[in-house]
Amino acid sequence: MTDSCIFCKIVSKAARATILYQDEQVTAFRDAHPVAPTHSLIVPNRHIESVNVLEPEDEPLIGQLFTVARKLAEAEGITKGGYRLITNTGANGGQTVFHLHLHLIGGQRMKYPMG
Ligand code: 5GP
Ligand code: ZN
Repeated sequence: MTDSCIFCKIVSKAARATILYQDEQVTAFRDAHPVAPTHSLIVPNRHIESVNVLEPEDEPLIGQLFTVARKLAEAEGITKGGYRLITNTGANGGQTVFHLHLHLIGGQRMKYPMG
């Protein structure tokens, strides 16, 4: 846990969020500023700044973020309609919270193209 990281605080329950899922490795909660009817964030419990610092030993953890996303999508009833998973990285990627996270966004038709 890093003292200044809001997602570390949410994982440890030092800050409040609507938690949708939590296990030993991963926590999922609703985004505070949803951009679509479903907008959740899936994060590793361990503080990892971004994709830029991932190591091969993190691969099972990153895979778990996606399987939790799949479970959340099912729970939200958006599996059939489809959804978008996004991981912003660094300033140009639009990352604002420097604790790795996967956005699960759905419940409406996504805009395209991206970028
Ligand atoms: P990023 O821009 O880093 O990809 O995404 C950060 C996301 O975290 C944004 O969608 C933002 O709304 C969300 N967020 C920032 N602070 C908080 C917070 O304190 N609680 C929750 N639930 N979401 C937050
Ligand atoms: Zn953190």
